[in-house]
Amino acid sequence: MTPCATMPPAHPFDDDKLREECGVYGVIGLDQAANFVALGLHALQHRGQEAGGIVAHDPHAGFNSARRFGYVRDNFTKAGLMDTLPGPLAIGHVRYSTSGNKGLTAARDVQPFFGEFSMGGAAIAHNGNLTNAEELRRDLIERGSIFQSSSDTECIIHLMARSMGKTIPDRMEEALRRVEGAFSVVAMTRTKLIGVRDPLGVRPLVLGQFGEGWVLSSETCALDIIGAKFVREIEPGEMVVITGARVESRHPFRPKTPRFCIFEHVYFSRPDSILGGRSVYETRAQIGVELAREAPVEADLVCPVPDSGTPAAIGYSQESGIPYAMGIIRNQYMGRTFIEPTDQIRNMGVRLKLNVNRALIEGKRVILVDDSVVRGTTSRKIKDMILDAGAKEVHFRIASPPTAWPCFYGVDTPERGKLLAATMSEDEMRDHLGVDSLKFISLDGLYRAVGEAKGRDPAKPAYCDACFSGEYPVEPADMIAKGFELKAQAAE
Ligand code: SF4
Repeated sequence: MTPCATMPPAHPFDDDKLREECGVYGVIGLDQAANFVALGLHALQHRGQEAGGIVAHDPHAGFNSARRFGYVRDNFTKAGLMDTLPGPLAIGHVRYSTSGNKGLTAARDVQPFFGEFSMGGAAIAHNGNLTNAEELRRDLIERGSIFQSSSDTECIIHLMARSMGKTIPDRMEEALRRVEGAFSVVAMTRTKLIGVRDPLGVRPLVLGQFGEGWVLSSETCALDIIGAKFVREIEPGEMVVITGARVESRHPFRPKTPRFCIFEHVYFSRPDSILGGRSVYETRAQIGVELAREAPVEADLVCPVPDSGTPAAIGYSQESGIPYAMGIIRNQYMGRTFIEPTDQIRNMGVRLKLNVNRALIEGKRVILVDDSVVRGTTSRKIKDMILDAGAKEVHFRIASPPTAWPCFYGVDTPERGKLLAATMSEDEMRDHLGVDSLKFISLDGLYRAVGEAKGRDPAKPAYCDACFSGEYPVEPADMIAKGFELKAQAAE
């Protein structure tokens, strides 16, 4: 473990994006599996930059683990460390804290977690958020459990410890039937790699194959990095138990209509991943096409707010016929070390990360395409930069509907009152940001872009879209207990 107990988030000034979650990865049947896990976690680094961990098992050396703060490439590339993680079976996790110490990861919260049971040890890593974790934790503590971390994932270990199941997969099934919320779990015993998705399938999890080995990953881009073949997505509510060449599929939960997170398509997943059989890049370009149809405006240039606004800007440009240009350039080398030190640097904010391509912008009417508006603080600064560079007009087009509700399923969102769209209408937001026009894609338009030709069916939505609609597919019990008001109660 590194000597420091906690570490601040990678971009302390940039609080204007929803923060992804975590990424999980597991490998069985490959020599030095931990090395493959490290590569996979590196490809999933966009899902969490605060810390990472790997647990490996070797028949002779037993279970070994390493947990580190910071980027995977800075830690899990060192031979001295990787040599301590031998064996053909390993799982790993990258994290941005979504429960426990938000934005300030504590060493004890870094996953995977490990538990020793009568039938042997098991390690578990989890992407998502349990909506009844606090209630479960209270109950478990009352019955004698001693928690080591503030992470909701530890509840699963304690529930497994109390189960009477004969095998670890049986105990995990029983434990997961008691938790609510969103979870994609990757776990391991001495001989098995296990993957589970919650009944709604809110967070992604895919299965890949590499030679004689099997891989579980949050996203397909992390299969590509090791040359693994994409086999299929783990189904919502499915548990796979992989032993050697055999993949056993179980369905431990009562079936429900899936509600995959629609924001994975908009922003969280990497554009080179495949989600639900669709390329994330193509979906984002299609969002731009829908946006151009719904919210046209006369202008000279379409520019993305890099990097995640890029495919939607290309789609907008293609549909509208307005030329696409890289009007804002991102500094690819923004590192943790440079941005931490002083308030003065902190106040430079977005200019450290983005710079306007003045020669392109001067005298032009510019459409800026961004993936989302959360607090609006960054959008205002970008608008100022574009006007300072001599733009004649600035029109914002946003590739998601207004984010008006917090996410309780594994994404770090500001509290509701800090979300711009929770307190302002679209026109008020336009005036607040000081732009010539502001338009968000509609929820129906977003559904069309992800492949639902008829748009959103309000009686049976095909996705989780709670951060836009306020309709939570799993009641956020812990938050309601703390006073959070659901939409119907808030509006009426
Ligand atoms: S609330 Fe939003 S970010 Fe959270 S799971 Fe649902 S769609 Fe995704």
